[in-house]
Amino acid sequence: MVDTHDGTPGVGAVSEAMLPLEPYTAGELASRFDASKATVRRFLNALARDGRIRKKVSEPERVIWIRDSPKDECPRCGNEFEIKHVHPVLQAVPYCPTCGSRLRRHER
Ligand SMILES: [Zn+2]
Repeated sequence: MVDTHDGTPGVGAVSEAMLPLEPYTAGELASRFDASKATVRRFLNALARDGRIRKKVSEPERVIWIRDSPKDECPRCGNEFEIKHVHPVLQAVPYCPTCGSRLRRHER
């Protein structure tokens, strides 16, 4: 993890710490970075504005943050797309929606 000069985690570090499609709370990430919840929440809001993560409010006091999966590229037909994970099992074995070949995952 790369820290910024003032010792607080950067926006990039926060998004990198989030596994794709894994739900996080600001408090959870704050304790991981040993940063204040307010700082982490500011980063999360910035990431959400950029469309890099999604904000889900399940209850007024419970905000969940989710990073979308990186883009996948089919090695066979070169089709690039975002896999929509609707089921945890499908998530483990992605297939190209164009040609149907099995894909290797690659992180950005
Ligand atoms: Zn394909």
